[in-house]
Amino acid sequence: MPEGDTIRRLAATIEHRFLGQAVTSCVFRHPALATASLADLCLESADARGKHLLIRFSDGRTLHIHLLMQGRVTFRRASDVPDWRRRFEIAFESGVMTGIDVPKIELIKTSTEAQILDFLGPDLCGSYDHAVATERLRSAKDRPLSEALLDQRLIAGFGNIYAVETPFICGISPFQTVETIEDINRVVAVGAALIRTNARRGPQRTTGQNRVPGDHWVLSNDRRRCLICGSKVRRYRGEQTPWRRRTAVCPTCQAISDKRTVDQARVRHLLRSHPALTILDLDDATLSVSTVEPVEVERIG
Ligand SMILES: [Zn+2]
Repeated sequence: MPEGDTIRRLAATIEHRFLGQAVTSCVFRHPALATASLADLCLESADARGKHLLIRFSDGRTLHIHLLMQGRVTFRRASDVPDWRRRFEIAFESGVMTGIDVPKIELIKTSTEAQILDFLGPDLCGSYDHAVATERLRSAKDRPLSEALLDQRLIAGFGNIYAVETPFICGISPFQTVETIEDINRVVAVGAALIRTNARRGPQRTTGQNRVPGDHWVLSNDRRRCLICGSKVRRYRGEQTPWRRRTAVCPTCQAISDKRTVDQARVRHLLRSHPALTILDLDDATLSVSTVEPVEVERIG
């Protein structure tokens, strides 16, 4: 599922494979780009802003892509996928990049990127200002926590996995309203530490394990009982939540109350095998490393 860390890693992979290479052929199957061509242009860079992918070319244009829930980018011809689902195929000297079921794609002037993406909140995987992110989230007041975390105008980069797993790790219900969480900055710090760590190292996991289903605490469909207290996990389909995404909650660990704070001992326990804990300053409710620079992806793949 494309979240901020997925897109940051995808941008790094595109650069790793094709940086400086010329486009040898290009096909778009999207109404807005039916006649567009990138042939002979060089790939100058690939970048991410929240969940937006930006692929820049040598003529001063950027391919701006958003995968939403269903889109994906693969590095093969994908001839087993019907033509109409292959929304773009861009071949470089050393390989091909295929966009499957990509719903949002446009060519923009590179100089207008900042203006077009100005609505986004602080980018969790970019040059990230934790104080600003926290203030923006706090302004959500009476909105449920997961709905606020998913609002890219407040903070850019949270997707559904982190919007469900972060509240679980903190011991707070995703339905708890933001204004009733006394240390909302601590919730954001936990999510930011997870996402930045997973973007840097991969894979996208919230426990210390890499294997499915052990890589997530509560969201996996086969997780019937809470791993912490043994209660039956309560599941919601997308249409059953205000934020229109599937959700899982432990009714015991994440009980709703008038005022909630992050259970710091629980966070330390649940993240004890995850490297995110090493960049998380729970006492100060922030990150213990500089976030001025965007995450540098260490392991491509
Ligand atoms: Zn529980």
